Amino acid sequence: MRIGARGDGPDPLDTPEIPRKMGLGNVTVVSEGRSKGQASPPMSAPTTAPFSTLHVVDDDRFDAHRSRGAHPERPERLAAARAGLAGALPDARRVAVAVEDASDEALERVHGAGYVRRLRSALGEWGHLDADTYFCPESEAAAWGAAGGAAALTRRLLAGEPDERAAGIALLRPPGHHARPGAAMGFCLLNNVAVAAAEALALGAERVAIVDWDVHHGNGTQEIFWEDPRVLFVSLHQYPHYPGTGAPSEIGAGAGRGKTINLALPAGSGPEVYGEAFRRVVLPALDEFGADLTLVSAGFDAHARDPLAGQELDDASYGAFAGAVAGRAARLGLMLEGGYDLQALEGSVRAVGEALLETGPELPEGTIPTAAEEAIERTRRAHAGLWRFADEG
Ligand SMILES: [Zn+2]
Repeated sequence: MRIGARGDGPDPLDTPEIPRKMGLGNVTVVSEGRSKGQASPPMSAPTTAPFSTLHVVDDDRFDAHRSRGAHPERPERLAAARAGLAGALPDARRVAVAVEDASDEALERVHGAGYVRRLRSALGEWGHLDADTYFCPESEAAAWGAAGGAAALTRRLLAGEPDERAAGIALLRPPGHHARPGAAMGFCLLNNVAVAAAEALALGAERVAIVDWDVHHGNGTQEIFWEDPRVLFVSLHQYPHYPGTGAPSEIGAGAGRGKTINLALPAGSGPEVYGEAFRRVVLPALDEFGADLTLVSAGFDAHARDPLAGQELDDASYGAFAGAVAGRAARLGLMLEGGYDLQALEGSVRAVGEALLETGPELPEGTIPTAAEEAIERTRRAHAGLWRFADEG
């Protein structure tokens, strides 16, 4: 049931179209052939020590957001993520971040004021905002707390001395990266990572990077920062797949042209493919951009066990991603997005925690399928002339 169907008049959550029409016509049917991976630009290993502590956002109001019927985005996910983090993070190295509701000011940097108002009034009982996106009587507290927790993590990470490194992880529900400026979508009500990024800009950060390794494209985040040169959005996602956006040709517009980077990876991509994508695109872009704060939309649904997608990652893959990004980030905040297999979620969060606190595994290497080669090269070609890394090799 859409909100409009509850008798509220025209669907109040409708907004203008996503910046471009997303056809799937440019997806090539690919051969099964494999080729030796092209020589990657040499990527230096992380040169910085692991983090001594992790700032953690966690709150039981996130558990109370639940569907009346079976739904993959369920409270048990948080228990799994908590267990994984607890396995990696001794209490003495955990620093709790207090959760408070996001302010209207924080939300309206990324969402329309009308949407925020209408969403709040729509929540309260049980219902759906779109076919996938449910709410319950506790959803307002969860959603406002999740967005507020994301902003609180940003404030904590930016609070130290200029040369002080800091990292944190926010175990948030509901997730956020599909939430658009004026619409809930894909299990997401408010765009937590976007709220966190905008908070950093409001506090004086000049550049914020968002790495989105959830298996689904972070269409909401992309849309919010589409024309903003201060925010680099890099997404690795299965393509084509829900929500249909995220083609390599989507690169941002206006002053933000080039600051949206989409790695549209074929179904069946495993650790080696992601490793190449990090080496050839994600890490060079982070190096070149030089963010004051790096955020991760940390979904774990590209895991081989996940029921909602078809990628082939394992727990250690996520540890490698976290370690690689951490090596280039003075201040790093991870926000939980998707991940719907409980065992995979627990193991992957544990691997991430270990990589941030100790030394994580290296990025996977190896030959990759031709289709994946071509997918990564399409992204590099789309950014030719916009980034040094895309013009090299
Ligand atoms: Zn996802």
